[in-house]
Amino acid sequence: MPANLPADRPPFLPFALPEIGEDEIAEVVDTLKSGWVTTGPKAKRFEQDFGAFLGDPALHAVAVNSATAGLHLALEALGIGPGDEVITTTHTFTATAEVVRYLGADVKLVDVDPATLNIDPAAVEEAVTSRTKAIVPVHYAGLAADMTSLLELAADCDLKVVEDAAHALPTTCGGQLVGTLDSDATVFSFYANKTITTGEGGMLVTRDAAVAQRARTMRLHGMNRDAFDRFTAKVPSWYYEVVAPGFKYNLTDIAAALGLHQLKKAHAFQQRRAAIAAAYDAAFADLPLVLPPQPAAGDRHAWHLYVLRLADDAGIGRDRFIERLFDAGIGCSVHYIPLHLHPYWRDRYALQPGQFPHSQHAYERMLSLPIYTRMSDDDVMRVAQAVRAALP
Ligand SMILES: *Cc1c(COP(=O)(O)O)cnc(C)c1O
Repeated sequence: MPANLPADRPPFLPFALPEIGEDEIAEVVDTLKSGWVTTGPKAKRFEQDFGAFLGDPALHAVAVNSATAGLHLALEALGIGPGDEVITTTHTFTATAEVVRYLGADVKLVDVDPATLNIDPAAVEEAVTSRTKAIVPVHYAGLAADMTSLLELAADCDLKVVEDAAHALPTTCGGQLVGTLDSDATVFSFYANKTITTGEGGMLVTRDAAVAQRARTMRLHGMNRDAFDRFTAKVPSWYYEVVAPGFKYNLTDIAAALGLHQLKKAHAFQQRRAAIAAAYDAAFADLPLVLPPQPAAGDRHAWHLYVLRLADDAGIGRDRFIERLFDAGIGCSVHYIPLHLHPYWRDRYALQPGQFPHSQHAYERMLSLPIYTRMSDDDVMRVAQAVRAALP
């Protein structure tokens, strides 16, 4: 510590940090030395391992360079385009919705269930029109959305379902891992602060072979390598055909090298996150705070986020509360500034806060505390004490 800082100044605890071990580092070095640094054998193995992790042999896994790319590819493969509407939650990151606009379709934002902050199936049902083609639920914070109701509604109204599972590895819903439910596609994120990371990266999983094939083609410039038989002497191996104006969304082997080892640790990481969540819950039980919702009996929460809400009688505003935590050296965040408050979404669809009362109410009172595997028990206690001390 520099000599000019007071000795009692608390060290800063970041909001999030990845846990990258020696296995990941050795695998990346191996990739760098191998001569094959872009998409190749390790990305392929990561896809296979990811399918095996989810435990459903009928699943196709398509590695991509972000969840945003995966969501875009999934909706593109399902045929979403101009004139269509896609329903999603206002209480999410903009990536969930922006991909709909990439395709020239329109976004219909709806409110959340006030207890879980997951998309409210009743609000979805009300928002369905003749133009609606798909629903994109988000498993907010790592707690499964009400997929039973959403899948039933989708079946009734003939809608596609693409799950934004950026928070949801390894979440379960009705005892099944998210990724193996009856939706059309599910997309995971391996961004730096997610439950496992490849720096940047994502995975699209689907049981629909046509969706998987289209996504594979479109993630690499629309080059249709299935149309080309590289193993016959008749067709030279340099030959390929461009069948569509695709994208550049492939995952590098350098990133996949990280993913191979992160995936093996996903369950251990989840257990540590769940233990931190339980320690927070116990520490906050007597405080004027709304604690995060628990998963249904027998189900697993991925605990990507630990979201607290100040009770109406807490006696302090959220912004001031976060300032006090920062002063105590605790990094916090807010998930999310609802989409309906951002200028682009607000202006494009003429949205008012009053249209989303549950998201709005939660947003005004919420903050996310640090929850990650590199936190020590002492770090967790420090956060808990700082929260207590920051309340009036
Ligand atoms: C992180 C996140 C994304 C985007 O993930 P990237 O891999 O960074 O593209 C999408 N949706 C939600 C809810 C997220 O939290």
